[in-house]
Amino acid sequence: MMSTDLSATQAVNAYFDEAAALVHLDDELYDVLKSSYREVTVQVPVRLDSGGLLVARGYRVQHNGARGPYKGGLRYHPTADLDEVRALASLMTWKTALLDLPFGGAKGGIEVDPTPLSARELEQMTRRFTQSIAHVLGVYRDIPAPDVNTDAQTMAWMMDAYSSRAGYSPASVTGKPVELGGAAGREAATGRGVVYVLDAACRRWGIPLTDLRVAIQGFGNVGSWCATELAARGVKVVAVSDVAGGVHRPGGLDVATLVNLVRSGRSVTEAPDVDHISNEELLAIECDVLVPAALGKVIRGDNADTVRARIVAEAANYPVTPLGDKVLADKGVRVLPDILTNGGGVTGSYFEWSMNIQQFSWTEERFNEELSRRLCKAFEHTADLADECGASLRTASFAVAIERVARAARLRGYV
Ligand code: NAD
Repeated sequence: MMSTDLSATQAVNAYFDEAAALVHLDDELYDVLKSSYREVTVQVPVRLDSGGLLVARGYRVQHNGARGPYKGGLRYHPTADLDEVRALASLMTWKTALLDLPFGGAKGGIEVDPTPLSARELEQMTRRFTQSIAHVLGVYRDIPAPDVNTDAQTMAWMMDAYSSRAGYSPASVTGKPVELGGAAGREAATGRGVVYVLDAACRRWGIPLTDLRVAIQGFGNVGSWCATELAARGVKVVAVSDVAGGVHRPGGLDVATLVNLVRSGRSVTEAPDVDHISNEELLAIECDVLVPAALGKVIRGDNADTVRARIVAEAANYPVTPLGDKVLADKGVRVLPDILTNGGGVTGSYFEWSMNIQQFSWTEERFNEELSRRLCKAFEHTADLADECGASLRTASFAVAIERVARAARLRGYV
């Protein structure tokens, strides 16, 4: 079957299978770890400002909780169906284990295009969804966070809706506004973390970070913070894009201008003094590092050959399909896998959750130091195993994670 025909879950499971074979996972644990523990589907009716009714579907998938409470983001997107949410929940299990965080893996989604919805409609949808799944949420049960098309405001509504049932519970969600117990540094953590991992990889491979030219697809939370951190370190960002299209400037884009545009609700395509490109052209742009930071399945068997970067840093979840992965490997492109590269988000969420429970806070400087330390440790551990086994970084990262979850599942008596 072509990888373009694989569903998101089948594709993530293909990566899981390769690593499970490497660690000789036994058949019983294989069956337990490959499927989700619980999948909740709810109806989310929203009264529109126009008077009409939108009836959306919402999902919360809890993949595995052997190592701790379920943890994972919530996305609002038309493609966020049960299969996609299931695949993303599974990735969260492997990500939290790889980063050695005391969490399991989960994901939530509402299958809806949120762009035409007003703030009031979004708030009502978020509150209704939270109420409908509140019985499976909780500080020590399942802790949501922001993802595509959700942000700190969404988390504030979720926390309020959950707290009205359970009592004041700031640790019930992460990625909150700082005023409500959010951690300074959490909003930037995923994008900054991508750069921390890239920096660790470049040091290991003997490539000077500042020599790199970087192209970033997606300029939301993750893409914009990744670009900001790169620019702060003197690295050239030569192309970026959002849903409306992309911009290119071989000498380097002015990242601050792009960030200001997006913060004021506009598109990167409105930037001055740039060449305009499509999202597909961005993937094939002349650069050293390509950072997919938007949606899944953008680099596939049918277009991976056009990639000219020598490193692909997977900031998005599951941006490369198994067939695309093979094409990149054959071309000698090094791939920094999603569960490692974008692990700064959930690591920052772990800091926020811990601070909320203990009612204290770190400075942003301390937050970033700890974030960098944990990501670099996970990278080195993964790279050592990859070298030892002759495996890809992706297979090695899944292998580390699978062994940790398998040990916990066995100790807890799941099998
Ligand atoms: P976001 O909603 O803030 O930003 C998404 C960006 O992608 C926007 O710039 C949007 O315009 C762009 N985009 C949407 N559709 C596109 C398309 N078809 N083509 C090109 N660009 C498109 O989302 P985010 O939080 O930045 O998440 C981006 C990716 O990173 C997702 O895959 C998400 O799962 C992953 N991720 C996010 C976090 C986090 O902490 N937010 C953590 C780990 C992983």
